[in-house]
Amino acid sequence: MIETAPLEIKDIKFSAKAQAYLSSPRQMLINGQWIPSLSGQTFPVFNPANGQEIAQIASGDKEDIDAAVQAARKVFDDERGPWRRMIPSERGKLIWKIGDLILENAEELAELESIDNGKPISVAKVADIPLAADLFHYMAGWVTKMEGRTIPISVAYAPGAEFHAYTLREPVGVVGQIIPWNFPLLMAAWKLGPALATGNTIVLKPAEQTPLTALRLGELLIEAGLPDGVVNIVPGYGETAGAALAAHDKVDKVAFTGSTEVGKMIVKASTGNLKKLTLELGGKSPNIVFADVQDIDAAIQGAANAIFFNHGQCCCAGSRLMVEEAIFDQVVEGVGELAKRIKLGAGTDAETEMGPLVSEEQLNRVSGYLESGQADGACAVAGGRRLGNAGYFVQPTVFSQVKPDMKIVREEIFGPVVVAEPFKDSAQLISSANDNDYGLAAAVWTRDVSKAHRTARQLRAGTVWINCYNVFDAALPFGGYKQSGWGREMGQEVLNNYTETKAVCIGL
Ligand code: ADP
Repeated sequence: MIETAPLEIKDIKFSAKAQAYLSSPRQMLINGQWIPSLSGQTFPVFNPANGQEIAQIASGDKEDIDAAVQAARKVFDDERGPWRRMIPSERGKLIWKIGDLILENAEELAELESIDNGKPISVAKVADIPLAADLFHYMAGWVTKMEGRTIPISVAYAPGAEFHAYTLREPVGVVGQIIPWNFPLLMAAWKLGPALATGNTIVLKPAEQTPLTALRLGELLIEAGLPDGVVNIVPGYGETAGAALAAHDKVDKVAFTGSTEVGKMIVKASTGNLKKLTLELGGKSPNIVFADVQDIDAAIQGAANAIFFNHGQCCCAGSRLMVEEAIFDQVVEGVGELAKRIKLGAGTDAETEMGPLVSEEQLNRVSGYLESGQADGACAVAGGRRLGNAGYFVQPTVFSQVKPDMKIVREEIFGPVVVAEPFKDSAQLISSANDNDYGLAAAVWTRDVSKAHRTARQLRAGTVWINCYNVFDAALPFGGYKQSGWGREMGQEVLNNYTETKAVCIGL
């Protein structure tokens, strides 16, 4: 067992609006109606700052997923219906309006996100909510630009024959979307935005730990004027609702964000009807600081943000800090000092800089890694302990004196825990940075432009940041190499994952 240090939590207060939202069981959205689960079952969600129950949520299971898929299927298959016949500019305006409504309700959404997930409300206000709105605004613009191509063809075996050939971009169909708890509203936006922009219909399953903002978003979708059944939202557990959605044979595609372990289960579940898959999975991202870095303080601050943002509960967290030998001690000490100064508290407290982990399960998981690091002989330069007994808090932790085969170096911890490793030269650095099953993100800090670009090319990762970290934009594709996933989220790139290309060929 790791040690526990004391933590004093100020009174946790919710606004009257949030209290009202939490006071009755939240229902699921199927075919434009808010309804209880068919079984009548609900499940509890907890405040991670004190472990107390905050709401009851309709618990979706196989039959609810089936009803939602049927609703989505009916709307998609009705080629004369309001969704399939909606002209692109109307669909674009509707998606834009969803973004506007998110901004209009930003305060409420930020509070719900903070209550549910534990993240600081200040962070939800500047990051989660505006990024979610921006995603819809960005995707709204694509609706009128989903163009095919005209293709000059030769048809070698038909000399003299003439053809006119072109491609159409068509929606994949009914899409199941399964999302995690680390950025609940933003992940819903990443998934819904491009799926709507390309004309699909959707069954969304939020994470059981954090369903509140996705359900509130469902109300905003209705307010924006989305036709019934285009987006259906079924909260529930992964093993029941999630598994049923992944396996459903009337679902044409599943888009999943979560752990690599569950991603592999989704792959297996998809084989029944060979549905299309996109997977955004785990990471163990190297954050590389060269001795010739322009501004060492900026690199130290950047390294701290890379791991401690969102309590390290980011698939792209900079969880391996790789520093060139000459400045290793200085950087590690600097990051350790910043870690010690982070103010922990309930997410809803405006002064909090880091909140609790999302759940007891996550607390146990991260604590297990803290224990294993210490047992394996790593040195906690900062942190290493749990904080308080009521909520799910752990100290921001920096481990040094690590070895390549330690679990804390190889596995994704998904908590505020970074391992610091020195490197001698570029050759050793690249083989060690790439020596991992994951390939989601990486960063490089140097003033040498050639070295920066060369290293970016050598890293096997879907995103490489240079002299920055955690820069996200709706226009920038995001996704993983290796076991970090299949396909990309965001940018123009994601649209390929939600469309089929149809080749049409006319004999003239
Ligand atoms: P984490 O380990 O970070 O909690 P998971 O990968 O377990 O992430 O969860 C991400 C999402 O996947 C959640 O919505 C969860 O309910 C769902 N999920 C979990 N297990 C399964 C499963 N067997 N099939 C489908 N979805 C699942």
